[in-house]
Amino acid sequence: MLPEATLDGIDTIVIGAGIAGLTAARQLQRAGQRVVVLEARDRIGGRLHTLCTDGLATDLGASWIHGIADNPLFDLVESFGLATREFTVGSFQPDGRPIAYFDPNGQRLSNAACAAFVQDVRTVDAQLAIEIAASAPSTSYEDVVERSLARMQWDEDRRERVREFLRHRTEEQYGVWIGDLDAHGLDDDQVDGDEVVFPDGYDAVATALASGLDIRLGTVVTEVAWAAEGVRVTADETLVATRAVVTVPVGVLQSGDLTFVPPLPATASAALVGLRMNAFEKVFLTFPERFWDEGLYAFRRQGESGAWWHSWYDVTSRDGSPTLLTFAAGPAARAIRGWDDARVAGSVMTTLHETHPDAPAPTKVQVTHWQDDPYARGSYAYMTVGSRCEDHDLLATPIGGVLHLAGEATWSEDPATVTAAYRSGHRAAEHILGRTLPFT
Ligand SMILES: Cc1cc2nc3c(=O)[nH]c(=O)nc-3n(C[C@H](O)[C@H](O)[C@H](O)COP(=O)(O)OP(=O)(O)OC[C@H]3O[C@@H](n4cnc5c(N)ncnc54)[C@H](O)[C@@H]3O)c2cc1C
Repeated sequence: MLPEATLDGIDTIVIGAGIAGLTAARQLQRAGQRVVVLEARDRIGGRLHTLCTDGLATDLGASWIHGIADNPLFDLVESFGLATREFTVGSFQPDGRPIAYFDPNGQRLSNAACAAFVQDVRTVDAQLAIEIAASAPSTSYEDVVERSLARMQWDEDRRERVREFLRHRTEEQYGVWIGDLDAHGLDDDQVDGDEVVFPDGYDAVATALASGLDIRLGTVVTEVAWAAEGVRVTADETLVATRAVVTVPVGVLQSGDLTFVPPLPATASAALVGLRMNAFEKVFLTFPERFWDEGLYAFRRQGESGAWWHSWYDVTSRDGSPTLLTFAAGPAARAIRGWDDARVAGSVMTTLHETHPDAPAPTKVQVTHWQDDPYARGSYAYMTVGSRCEDHDLLATPIGGVLHLAGEATWSEDPATVTAAYRSGHRAAEHILGRTLPFT
């Protein structure tokens, strides 16, 4: 089926120049292979995308390393000498750093009320772990949350505060409505050590990884044919090689824009069915002056008014301009699809004015559009109801000795993250070389 295996002298074709692809390519090239990276966009980094304007770096894709302890990605960042800044509030923590809460009436919670609420979240979280462990297949996260709340001898208002917190956590962590996430969909949701962000932009990691690699930008791959002899990859031109590492997001794999000939085998295709790209957009609002308290990492809104816009993160330290970051996640992100920035800002400000009536109009608004990006099709993948944690790793099972899938969605331990992408690219290189490799 494939052409005579002269193979253009390429050992491995890597599809996608995000963190997974660059990591695999770098390891393989270091091991002496001839590697070519094919990337659809006119830039590297994929879902790491830093916009630099007037010296200000804004991360439109990933911002955080969610836990730097025992994290090979952080070790890599340090080995590159990249600057990071502690900002341990990226995993929807209820506390641990200064976070203010406003009640459903828009009044700020006292310290005592805040502590009591956080304790309620912890109590339900402990029960949740038990309910999740005991849950039957095809149970949703909403089901286990409701079972946990039902065990609390609390009044409905007290239950509702925790319910909405867990709903918002599901949305911010996975960009999905709580009823659409599998009960095990947040199993990986733990942070070891501090979280950090990148003052000069996260995509510096991609730039450093890409050094010395043969990367062909603007190259949209439409077909990967594979057989025992190797792979034939079709883009503007056709390249053949001994093998391929495919790192495109799950949404691209499911779209039909990139086809496999023959189709992916049952192990991979069955695992793929359970994963879906989410809806998760960032909204940055820069103001002429600060109208929230100094020293807060974040503030959150409880109650019906906070259904869409409930959490604001102070990212002023980027360049000193008072700036809040909020997220449209899950249903809110789906609903604002197609809105212009002014309409999004108007919606956010309506909620903000309830707690901060004197908030001035923002001078600058930036909204991301990952749902409309044909090479991402969302921000990251979540587990639909009925899928299993191990589906992520199953996707990465080497296929026919020549095809390797990698990327954030192929790593079970902490999928959906840059760390997962990094580890998955590293694993693909290990599978190909047949030995373990050092990370840095
Ligand atoms: C808004 C947002 C916020 C996030 N926040 C965080 C965070 O704070 N912390 C965190 O750890 N993670 C976060 N993530 C997730 C993180 O960015 C991703 O998990 C990670 O970057 C994925 O890397 P990857 O290499 O698997 O995929 P990608 O970065 O998507 O790389 C795949 C590459 O394949 C290319 N491609 C697609 N189709 C084709 C084709 N047909 N032909 C050729 N090339 C193709 C794409 O252009 C892309 O460059 C966030 C993501 C988004 C979008």
